[in-house]
Amino acid sequence: MEINRRGGEKMKRIIAVVLAAFMLLTCVGCAGKEKSDEQPVERIGIISAMDNEVALLLDEAEIDHVDTIGGVKFNVGTLHGQDVVIMRSGIGKVMSASAITAMLNQYKISKVIFTGVAGGVGDETQVLDEVIATRLIQHDYGFMTNDGFLWATAVPGEEEGEKDYVDCDPDLVDLAYKSAVEVMGEEHVFKGVIVSGDQFVASEEYVKTLQDKFDAIACEMEGAGVTAICKNYKVPIVVIRAMSDKADGNAHESMENMGDIAADNCNKIVLKMLDGMN
Ligand code: SAH
Repeated sequence: MEINRRGGEKMKRIIAVVLAAFMLLTCVGCAGKEKSDEQPVERIGIISAMDNEVALLLDEAEIDHVDTIGGVKFNVGTLHGQDVVIMRSGIGKVMSASAITAMLNQYKISKVIFTGVAGGVGDETQVLDEVIATRLIQHDYGFMTNDGFLWATAVPGEEEGEKDYVDCDPDLVDLAYKSAVEVMGEEHVFKGVIVSGDQFVASEEYVKTLQDKFDAIACEMEGAGVTAICKNYKVPIVVIRAMSDKADGNAHESMENMGDIAADNCNKIVLKMLDGMN
């Protein structure tokens, strides 16, 4: 009798431990992922570099949960009727490339929208105008040679550049342009080349170089890298930028004063785009 009761309790304890271990393992397995027994929801990925560049979107969104991966917060939910993941990567090509890679690996992303501010490089792109990138290039990627810096070329002596441009998706560019015109008016919206590099550009001389070399109309610090990664993953992307400054000697001050307004304008265009997808 005594032996049987002790044996029964031991068995109960073993079952409880096995059950607890199973529950723990299941929990660890699904942390940060869509539920594994369900089809993953297809989402639009929205990325920016800084907090103020997604503030309006997060205000408007219904966030279901937040996953943190590599220190980056991925806000998973709905926005204007669309399933979305909204994320702020941090500034520069390294942080943004790593964050978009995590997003594309973790979620089922149908398309990506980059929203943020930039320096207006084209003579015609003024502060608070909008630029939709048709294609992008890294302006600080290349060779340092005895004859100086060769931009974005594979081999010294070869023609510079052409193959290093990455394209945005033409349909998303059209939708972004149409939406931007509705929000800002046609005279404030431009389409063209955006250049990216790991420098905040505040130099009239370098602006001239960016115009001459790349035909650029805006410069920033993330778009070309993020677009290159989306291209590798075959996920369509558009980069939308509102001009916070003119990348000149006054750029830092201009960004301080106009950055939040520019960022909100860009977010309004994203919301218009999402409405256009319904
Ligand atoms: N004010 C911030 C610095 C922001 S860096 C600070 O002090 O920490 C600039 C950010 O805005 C980058 O994410 C970049 O993509 C964009 N940007 C705006 N104007 C720019 C410019 N003139 N040159 C490069 N990036 C610019």
